[in-house]
Amino acid sequence: MKSEFTYISPRSLEEALKILEDRGEGAQVIAGGTDLMIQIREGKLGAGLLVDITYIPELRFIREEGNQIKLGPLVTHAELASSGVIKNGASVLERAAHSVGSPQIRNMGTIGGNIVNASPAADTIPALVVLDAQVTLMRKGRKRTLPITDLYIGPYKTIIEPHELLVEITFTKLDDGWRSSFIKLARRRALAIARINIAALAKMEGAKAKEVRISVGSSTPTPCRMGEVETLLTGEVPSLALIEEAALRAAQEMVKRSGVRPSTEYKRPAVQGLVEKALREVFDLGYET
Ligand SMILES: Cc1cc2nc3c(=O)[nH]c(=O)nc-3n(C[C@H](O)[C@H](O)[C@H](O)COP(=O)(O)OP(=O)(O)OC[C@H]3O[C@@H](n4cnc5c(N)ncnc54)[C@H](O)[C@@H]3O)c2cc1C
Repeated sequence: MKSEFTYISPRSLEEALKILEDRGEGAQVIAGGTDLMIQIREGKLGAGLLVDITYIPELRFIREEGNQIKLGPLVTHAELASSGVIKNGASVLERAAHSVGSPQIRNMGTIGGNIVNASPAADTIPALVVLDAQVTLMRKGRKRTLPITDLYIGPYKTIIEPHELLVEITFTKLDDGWRSSFIKLARRRALAIARINIAALAKMEGAKAKEVRISVGSSTPTPCRMGEVETLLTGEVPSLALIEEAALRAAQEMVKRSGVRPSTEYKRPAVQGLVEKALREVFDLGYET
């Protein structure tokens, strides 16, 4: 099916919100277009109005405010991967952005598009989940802020209404006590999309893990933290035996959440191995030789 679109590029947030209010149901927001253009080319979207938000300066920023980092949805993966603010305050997100696609995709693709497209394989989502990120959605006359995990109701499905724009992503900066890991398993090609990706954070207090956060992408119906694994590790002195136990539990928790599927046979050991690798990194426990 060939799609027919008309195109408009508002120059301010106010103008974009007005267009979406008037034309919401028949309008489609486009940012970098790296996901959307493929859907259009494949005929998955019907005719309508394409609202290109690329030229809205209010949506492109990386800001530090006190202990918070605030991002506009138009920040590209390349900008995230080269930002000093992100490197210092959210290195897990820097690594996730760096792992995206190819230089061309990182230059065009935005964090907002990655979040809203809601692909289970999206690389920034597990990183934002362990950062406990909040997202702000706006439509004319209304603004709402919610945890990023509340956005998702299924693969490629969010609660975002047709009249709404994602306008901000916020999270607390990680201070020096945090260690982080981001690991991605993908088919080995430059443009590989993640088959599984893991984001992990740990904050130590002396020898004990004061707080642990872990999210496994591409493996659960909606993005989430692995609560049982986090509880197992929190307050404990991490050892190789404990990490191995945690990795096994992560694989079990993944199956519990997603049910047994054709991919489970491959994903269960893969999740186990990758979680173990991520935890060894955050707890600074190398492999025995
Ligand atoms: C070859 C290739 C390789 C890729 N590799 C990776 C990879 O390794 N990792 C990865 O995570 N992704 C990858 N992607 C997917 C894609 O590049 C990312 O998801 C990218 O971040 C999407 O951003 P965009 O700005 O291009 O989104 P667009 O395509 O412009 O939009 C995507 C969706 O988000 C909506 N949208 C965008 N911005 C907003 C907003 N502010 N408010 C409301 N709705 C909005 C659009 O309406 C659309 O539904 C790849 C894509 C390609 C083509």
